[in-house]
Parts: sequence; C-alpha cells; structure tokens
Amino acid sequence: MEFKVGRTVVRVIQGDITEQETEAIVNAANPTLMGGGGVDGAIHRKGGPSILEECKKIRATQYPKGLPTGKAVITNAGRLKAKYVIHTVGPIWSGGDRGEAELLAEAYRSCLELASSKGIKSIAFPSISTGAYGYPISKASRVALETVKDFLIKEHTINEVVFVLFSREDQKVYEKAAEEILSK
Ligand code: ADP
Repeated sequence: MEFKVGRTVVRVIQGDITEQETEAIVNAANPTLMGGGGVDGAIHRKGGPSILEECKKIRATQYPKGLPTGKAVITNAGRLKAKYVIHTVGPIWSGGDRGEAELLAEAYRSCLELASSKGIKSIAFPSISTGAYGYPISKASRVALETVKDFLIKEHTINEVVFVLFSREDQKVYEKAAEEILSK
C-alpha cells in the first residue's frame, strides 16, 4: 500500500529488510551493536563483516557503554543493496507504563534525523521492538506511523519511507494503522 505525506511517498510492504534498495535501511539493533537475532542477525549475515567493523569503532569512540535506547548511528552497508545501515535501539516492552511509546518514537525520529542530516533520500524501516523486544505490534505500528508522519510534515528532505514487514499479518496491522493515520 502506498500513501503520500506532503511530497514523500510512504509504502507499507511485506518483505525482507536486507533486500531493500533504499539508500538506507534501519537495523533494530541492541545496545552492544555487536549483532544479535532477528533483523540484526540478518543484516550482519548478509552485509558481511565491514558493518561490524564500523560498529566496533563507534563503540570504542562514541558509545563505550553501548548505544542508548532511542539513539541512532550510521554505518556502511557492506554487501547489501542499500548504501547505509542506520542502527537504532528500540525499547523493551514492559507493560507500557515505562515510557516505551516515547522511546520508540525517539528511535524512529533519531533515524529520520540522522538520514536527513546525511542527505539520504530514501529509507526502509523494519518493525522496531516488535520481535525479541516484545512490543505489541498494533501499538507499535501506530507509534511508528505517527512519528514518521510528524517528521515528514515538518521536514521535506526525504522522498521515500518504506515500512518493511516480515509477515503478511504484520503488514495488515501496519496497513490498517496507515489508512487511519496517513490518509487524513
Ligand atoms: P527487536 O529486538 O527490536 O524486537 P527483532 O529483529 O527481534 O527486533 O524484530 C523486529 C521485527 O522484525 C519483528 O516483527 C520480526 O518479525 C521482523 N524481522 C525479522 N527479520 C526480518 C527481516 N529480515 N526483514 C524484515 N523484518 C524482519
């Protein structure tokens, strides 16, 4: 499904984030930046060792204690089709009253701001926090779409935003939220 927010095209697709041809893809990383399961594992596996090399440098210089939740950093994308990987850390779901929604919004915002500052015109997001981190997908989809919409209304630097959902079910959840949030 495709939507327009100002001049930006927002797409909700089913697919694999590692196959996207957008300029940047987002990694649902963990604070260590040393890889993991889910999206993180797939990106490092397919992208090859150059991504981890750059992550190690970032840990050594910028974030010796790890990347805090809600922040984002950028690396090369190795052998992937994308040019950059933007790594962010979403919140771990713990019931919803520990600031999870604000932290998840911050993660999306940090990625968009970083992309924008690098002149990146197209970016693909996975569903941050809804795998191992346990964030309910219906709630997460609303936070993701609202945050991206608010950003795109204020800044016109990005031409294309793609939400890449791994399963058809997840895609349906995002499409339902997008029809409500992006169509008005
Ligand atoms: P988190 O730790 O932030 O929850 P995960 O990687 O565990 O991140 O999961 C986030 C979402 O990404 C889940 O919905 C999962 O099904 C999905 N996912 C896993 N692998 C891929 C992939 N290769 N492309 C797109 N989405 C993926």
